[in-house]
Amino acid sequence: MLEIESFKMIIYDKNKCILCGACAAESEYNGIRIIKNKIIIDEEAAEDWENIITICPVGAINWNKTAGDKNCQSSCEI
Ligand code: SF4
Repeated sequence: MLEIESFKMIIYDKNKCILCGACAAESEYNGIRIIKNKIIIDEEAAEDWENIITICPVGAINWNKTAGDKNCQSSCEI
């Protein structure tokens, strides 16, 4: 389990986060939890990540499109 900041596919902006708890409430498989006012994400949990990203009212969670591109380029060597 990793803190959100170190995720490869999902990014988290703690400066935007208002700790409303909506993402954790939407999490069905403990993919997102709030522990001691910190967001903890288990990216490998079988969550509906698109839904969780959409539910954040301030856009603090999003797909890490840059990392995805880099991963794709290194995998495909394009
Ligand atoms: S839904 Fe967004 S603002 Fe609310 S706790 Fe989660 S990351 Fe923070």
